[in-house]
Amino acid sequence: MKIHLGRFADSGTKAALKTLIGQFFPGSKAEFRESSVIVSDFRPETAADFIPAAEALPGISWVQMSLAEECPLAVSAKKTSHIFDFSKGSIFIAGPCSVDTEENYLSCAKALKEAGADALRAALFKPRSSPYAFQGIGFAGADIIKKAKEITGLPLVTEVTDTRQIEKLVGLTDILQIGARNMRAYELLKEAGRSGMPVLIKRSAHATLREWLLSAEYLLKYGCKEVILCERGDGIGSEFPVNLDMIRAALKNTELPVFSDPCHSAEGASAATDAAVNALAAGAHGLLIEAEINPHKAKTDGRHTMTVQSLAALIKDKK
Ligand code: PEP
Ligand code: MN
Repeated sequence: MKIHLGRFADSGTKAALKTLIGQFFPGSKAEFRESSVIVSDFRPETAADFIPAAEALPGISWVQMSLAEECPLAVSAKKTSHIFDFSKGSIFIAGPCSVDTEENYLSCAKALKEAGADALRAALFKPRSSPYAFQGIGFAGADIIKKAKEITGLPLVTEVTDTRQIEKLVGLTDILQIGARNMRAYELLKEAGRSGMPVLIKRSAHATLREWLLSAEYLLKYGCKEVILCERGDGIGSEFPVNLDMIRAALKNTELPVFSDPCHSAEGASAATDAAVNALAAGAHGLLIEAEINPHKAKTDGRHTMTVQSLAALIKDKK
């Protein structure tokens, strides 16, 4: 932790700070420098209370923590999964944006298995900008995704949009997806963490690495053992495509698996394929891809949904 001293910091400021550090962090090391103080060996819970107290002292400019200090769990968690074998190449989670009819979803599931997918998108709940837009078929689709899992043997990834869905999803799906809109839904993160389920968490539009990892920290602090980070760009359409620097930064600062969703920020299916290739080249361990037999008939997001054939070609090329 670095405490920046302001221009008007004097010996009184330093003495008050020394007392405060002693109160909050007994046994910690504090190194007083010309314009800052470095404190090491403290707990993040205590730091949360210390920061406002320190910043309220006259002469203190601001308090800065490193990622490792703010997100100790996210930064130290290992790349583990009881679902995916990362030693066998890139992981492909694929499926329609939303589950629609049983006939279409099961045909897609079989074709995706054939294409080499490692897991199925099994989206029952769709967070939509418009309340008039299709909201997903909800738990009416539970039997459909269950059948898809039985037939293909593939694990399921299902977005959770509300804490009330979690209990039922625990026995139904294999990985909970927290979507870009909900990366900051902290009560949802706590409850998803408490479920003990593996969670794939997307980065919200324009969220920083710090904010993304703090959301992962919520999941881990509340009980999640397997977190997958998923970078998806900052918008819809091509304005802010998949952020390759963000993938690299996540890989550099954590050991968590880093995936990418190349579809939602892409202008169309061919741009999504390019983004998928770029994300893997940047080091992503896997992809979450919207793919189906006939994207033109998709109820949602057909525009950037890949055909099963193009997904099969991508998997063949990149697995
Ligand atoms: C999705 O993956 O279905 C989705 C809603 O994407 P995002 O959260 O990235 O918008
Ligand atoms: Mn979608």
